Amino acid sequence: MIPIARPVMTSQEKEKVLEVMESGMLAAGSYVEEFARKFADYSGTAFGVATSSGTTALHAALEAAGIGAGDKVITTPFTFIASSNSILYTGAKPVFVDVDPLTYNIDPKEIRKALEADPTIKAIMIVHLYGLLCDMEEIMRIVDEYDLILIEDAAQSHGAEFKGQRAGSFGQLAAFSFYPTKNMTTGEGGIILTQQEELADRAARLINHGQSERYYHDELGYNYRMTNLAAAIGLAQLERLDDYNAKRRANAKFFDEAFAELDWLRTPLEPTGYRHVYHQYTVKVPRRDQFAAHLKENGIGYGIHYPLPVTEQPFYKELGYGKVDFPVTQKLCREVVSLPVHPALTEMELTTIAEVVKSF
Ligand SMILES: *Cc1c(COP(=O)(O)O)cnc(C)c1O
Repeated sequence: MIPIARPVMTSQEKEKVLEVMESGMLAAGSYVEEFARKFADYSGTAFGVATSSGTTALHAALEAAGIGAGDKVITTPFTFIASSNSILYTGAKPVFVDVDPLTYNIDPKEIRKALEADPTIKAIMIVHLYGLLCDMEEIMRIVDEYDLILIEDAAQSHGAEFKGQRAGSFGQLAAFSFYPTKNMTTGEGGIILTQQEELADRAARLINHGQSERYYHDELGYNYRMTNLAAAIGLAQLERLDDYNAKRRANAKFFDEAFAELDWLRTPLEPTGYRHVYHQYTVKVPRRDQFAAHLKENGIGYGIHYPLPVTEQPFYKELGYGKVDFPVTQKLCREVVSLPVHPALTEMELTTIAEVVKSF
């Protein structure tokens, strides 16, 4: 079986983790600070606050931005559930809008429609799906026009670029995940990025029980801290992120060429000016379930990202979200399938995957 994801752990990770173990400083400390600084620097922001996961980073980022009960936040139904769950945690209400049929990212035209229908909307949470940045030109224009708070869910887009600007540096705040299947990992982990010191301070307090000084707590906060053990893995991984992303891009190019002749399969789009980092290499096929069965029979791991619009998950339906149709998302949920594209794939494995796909 060729797995859909396979994190790479080298002697660099092992040595760093051992260093932390021997230091005795296992929880938050200097490794976390160094990792947060370096990841923020890599992504082009002034501040980074490392967290226990991508989900906790999203939740704390929203709260740091002042989002809470009664607020409305536009987001996409075609994403991992953590994006909109984090909005629900704050007491705010997600307002879902459909995605673009070519990029699968949130559709700016639909954002405008939602804002025209409801001018009380306060923020947008965009998701750079599969490693491709959203339409940042048009989204930044809308954000300025309507004076909105922009939060980036960059959990799938470490190092992705639009016109040389990296994921996580567009919004007031951004959140990344370092789960083992992502472009780089810390085991479990996440980070909040921002250009504004005040927001960074607020986020740092929120993830540490609202503490300003030892045992002085200014507000209700959480324990969402990253550990030094996780940061040690992250420091080693960050050194190789560019290599990993280059390998992902080379693997994607190999597939693009191998599948160019298949008129029944649509490969991922990389519009001009964008640098896709292929967190997933997701193709669109009409008979998806048969195609997925064919992959499985032939030992190719795959993922369905995602089989249901968020709005059709049972508890979202209970909240009353199931009634609105998102035709583009609904169709994608029936047609998408992600192939292995991770940097640990061998040339043999790449060739096998391409042959199995072509033999369908
Ligand atoms: C992985 C992911 C998250 C959540 O990250 P965790 O670290 O698993 O909590 C959020 N949003 C998107 C789009 C993701 O892919």
